[in-house]
Amino acid sequence: MSKITRRQVINTAIALAGTTVIARFSHAQDIIASDDATALAMGYVADHTTVDTAKWTKKASPGGENQKCTSCTIYQRIDDDYGLCPIFIGKRVHANGWCNGWVA
Ligand code: SF4
Repeated sequence: MSKITRRQVINTAIALAGTTVIARFSHAQDIIASDDATALAMGYVADHTTVDTAKWTKKASPGGENQKCTSCTIYQRIDDDYGLCPIFIGKRVHANGWCNGWVA
């Protein structure tokens, strides 16, 4: 039977505290606005099914219907509705959102 060391307990406590701080901070961030300059430049929309595919042709490519924030490599989930994206620093993006920075 393995023993749990004091160091393991302390490291776990620190990790849990850090996770809690990050989660609280993430929820405090504003939701990206559709008229945000970066959002406009990147073609960001809160609902990926509304993308103007004539303008944003990546979304019209094969499999494009599956492109949304939750399927994007750089998406960092906060909860079922929102996440963080390194393109929109300091803001939350919608889980069903999309922008031209989508990465498989
Ligand atoms: Fe969503 Fe990815 Fe665009 Fe960020 S880069 S807004 S996670 S689709």
